[in-house]
Amino acid sequence: MKAARLYGAGDLRVEEVPDPRIEDDRDALVRVVRSCICGSDLWPYREMEPSASGRAIGHEAVGVVEAVGKAVEWIRPGQLVVMPFAFSDGSCELCRRGLQTACVNGGFFGNEQINGAQAEALRVPYADGTLFPLAVEPDPEILPDLLTLSDVMGTGHYACVVAGVAPGKTVAIVGDGAVGLCGVIAAKRLGAERILLLGHHPQRTALGLELGATDTVEERGEAAIERVRELTGGRMVDCVLECVGNAEAARTAVELARPGGAVGRVGVPHYSELPLAEETFYRNVVIGGGPAPTRAFIPELLPDVLARRIEPGRVFDLTVPLDGTADGYQAMDRRQAIKVLIEP
Ligand SMILES: [Zn+2]
Repeated sequence: MKAARLYGAGDLRVEEVPDPRIEDDRDALVRVVRSCICGSDLWPYREMEPSASGRAIGHEAVGVVEAVGKAVEWIRPGQLVVMPFAFSDGSCELCRRGLQTACVNGGFFGNEQINGAQAEALRVPYADGTLFPLAVEPDPEILPDLLTLSDVMGTGHYACVVAGVAPGKTVAIVGDGAVGLCGVIAAKRLGAERILLLGHHPQRTALGLELGATDTVEERGEAAIERVRELTGGRMVDCVLECVGNAEAARTAVELARPGGAVGRVGVPHYSELPLAEETFYRNVVIGGGPAPTRAFIPELLPDVLARRIEPGRVFDLTVPLDGTADGYQAMDRRQAIKVLIEP
């Protein structure tokens, strides 16, 4: 089969690799129907040291189950499934608490250790705990929306949960990428009164306004904080979603929170220390987050996707065939695309 592999910064190749096979009785084999490129895939795409052996990449997929191991009880061949970006056994104490990304037997797809979703097919460990079966046909119209339940929509929702988004709250979202835009959808869905989207890309912030943002803030750094101060009459915001992961975004996020407010961090951190430890202490700001347990949120979000009450698939603005995955990375790297859908 074909799969994308990364051999170093900017060196992404789609090539023939051995077909995945059942290696454990709890595995499933999934034929990928749609996958995509994540903002977090751009970090290794930009920074990876050259490697002769390369690595798998991609962690978001919707697919059809082709085969299951002997110990798989619930997932059946022929089912359309969402594959969350993390695999999880579904049975440990953390999984049962809904924190599948911290599963004691779990891990993340698409790296040196395990196959990635930017491929024709995948081996999925702990099929019963990992995959979410969908009782719907693979309608091409809704596949992009379903695919976002694998990561970005669930991640935007998780940021809202951590930040305590609720009816009447004022929310600021740092980052106008796919996760930030899904954060807008999630905040609106949870009843936020005011949604301020911070971002510098006009076509992205314009989409954010369509998806439910009430205000956009194009300024950076101190100027962005001043703009939010103006927009909120000096009050600042109850809930902040940090959807970027660099030091500037993290600092902006914690500065925006009003006393007693909360920051939900879902941007993979490329900084080593949390900013403003003392200031946030004296403002009683809650800072939380991490890899979103998107598996846990599918039951809540799926009905709204199926009823078209939310359309998170709108974050995809470029589609490439699997063979064109390298073009997709280039487009995202150059900010020519928000998020790239891959049709194997
Ligand atoms: Zn577990």
